[in-house]
Amino acid sequence: MKYLEEFQNPELAGRLLADIRATVTRPWALMEVCGGQTHSIIRHGIDQLLPEEVELIHGPGCPVCVTPLEMIDRALAIAARPEVIFCSFGDMLRVPGSERDLFRVRGEGGDVRVVYSPLDALRIAQENPQREVVFFGIGFETTAPPNAMTVYQAKKLGIRNFSLLVSHVRVPPAIEAIMRSPDCRVQGFLAAGHVCSVMGIDEYPELAARHRVPIVVTGFEPLDILEGIRRTVRQLERGEHVVDNAYPRAVRPEGNPAAKAMLADVFEVTDRAWRGIGVIPASGWRLSPRYRDQDAEHRFPVSDITPCEPAQCRSGEVLQGQLKPSECEAFGTVCTPRTPLGATMVSSEGACAAYYLYRRLSGPASVSGPASGSVSGPASGSVSGSVSGSQEVSTVA
Ligand code: SF4
Repeated sequence: MKYLEEFQNPELAGRLLADIRATVTRPWALMEVCGGQTHSIIRHGIDQLLPEEVELIHGPGCPVCVTPLEMIDRALAIAARPEVIFCSFGDMLRVPGSERDLFRVRGEGGDVRVVYSPLDALRIAQENPQREVVFFGIGFETTAPPNAMTVYQAKKLGIRNFSLLVSHVRVPPAIEAIMRSPDCRVQGFLAAGHVCSVMGIDEYPELAARHRVPIVVTGFEPLDILEGIRRTVRQLERGEHVVDNAYPRAVRPEGNPAAKAMLADVFEVTDRAWRGIGVIPASGWRLSPRYRDQDAEHRFPVSDITPCEPAQCRSGEVLQGQLKPSECEAFGTVCTPRTPLGATMVSSEGACAAYYLYRRLSGPASVSGPASGSVSGPASGSVSGSVSGSQEVSTVA
């Protein structure tokens, strides 16, 4: 498949790995802030291929995982109302709230529907003028533009029974919060390519300069990620800390002006709570005053909910890169994708789910062997075949 297979080439992966090995002289900790990149790293065993000096820390990049529990509880309360048709992408249905999830609400008679686009929810609103249709709008700068466009369309078409439950978050303030944390070990960031394809890279140079941390815009295929790591390590070894775009086939410096204009029209920046982290200033969006009557939180009285996090779940530490999923006592025992305690085990982009899916059931996999090794894992599509280098990698199958 064009633009996919050529970015999974094992020979080129081996060359990038050899370059990283030749460059690195001391330990470095890099963080990706994107669940898609986390999934790709674990799926392809990229973290196990790297020299031991390079550690990858999985940041709060999964949109489902960072949605705060109180917002899940608000969604559950709204979805249970008899006049409501509650629409959501499918991955939110199993995210546990304090006492239940959206599947349970549906089982108890709530009208909860899985849609593939917010425009599907708008169509349902048009078809059901006697009902209130709510779409659960979560995620980063990538999902916010289509949700903004749907609210804009609803207003333009005079569809008054549609509203948006908004839980959108922004990546740059999260990087700021991570760097300000007293426990921060991060020395370089792989910035999420799809976020930058929407927003551009304007917000990052100031962050990179102030925190003296390289930020490399990175894609999602194995070669993209290895190239992002290679460029970050090279900067660190040289003492540099600038923004570098390693994903130019998708990211222009200015981003997508039409999407940014739609965001600016429909949303305004606000403080947002991140699950497991807490409130980060200016880290999210809410509907601007012109669209406030389409805000589900204003339309339904759900602000007095007190959430109750399961005591066993340590997803907050996982989301901040302070704990590997397999180091959580509940991982793979009481907490599995079938019985998730936390959102990081539910979402396909969650670090706990990725570790479980790709059989990272304990600490780092063994890395040993002769000069030319094979890279393999349980997932189809892994970087497979001969990879020149100095290590052989085996994943826990
Ligand atoms: S393994 Fe389960 S309980 Fe542990 S941090 Fe992940 S989601 Fe929470």
